[in-house]
Amino acid sequence: MVNLACDCNAIAWSIDERIPRTGIRYLCHCDDCQAFAHFIGRANRVLDANGGTDAYQLPASRLMFSRGLDNLSCVRMTNGRLIRWYCSHCNTPVANTYDTSKLSFLSVPLCALPAEQRDEALGPSSGHVWTKFGHGDLSRVKQVSIPAMLWRMASRIAAARISGDYLNNPFFDPVACKPICMPRHLTFAERSELDRKVHAVASA
Ligand SMILES: [Zn+2]
Ligand SMILES: [Zn+2]
Repeated sequence: MVNLACDCNAIAWSIDERIPRTGIRYLCHCDDCQAFAHFIGRANRVLDANGGTDAYQLPASRLMFSRGLDNLSCVRMTNGRLIRWYCSHCNTPVANTYDTSKLSFLSVPLCALPAEQRDEALGPSSGHVWTKFGHGDLSRVKQVSIPAMLWRMASRIAAARISGDYLNNPFFDPVACKPICMPRHLTFAERSELDRKVHAVASA
């Protein structure tokens, strides 16, 4: 069991992971993850020197809250279905999901777990995705295949739906399958301002 808490301790959650692990760790450099880190005012904390977010993707039923579920907020960075959950008080990122539990997907940004504990707790990173949005020299890093990643996500979604495991998802109302709070939708101007910040870091 890997125990995590947000910076203000209002929210505590754990990842029920054991060997063999069900999840996969990766570094995402996509523009949405970078814009989100700026949105919560945590770019220095969440992003590495190349604009990467260390994250762990696992079945949603493996994450449990021990405290503070009602302190969660969520935001949609694009018109797509991904929503990003964070603490309403201290802005620590908690997890990313889709906007319905029927599409069971969960990715947990790992900034709440000290970097030196991540390898032992969740295994080494499998590599980098979306390096074209990263900055600095990423020419020699190990790339995770995007089709393989999408295939893994689709298989997980299908398996959770068939087994009924998708109903065990603390971010969603189990009956309506809707998020427990309404995602905020960024305006075009808000998103443009965040993109400007991402590009300012990249070209610094
Ligand atoms: Zn907090
Ligand atoms: Zn990303």
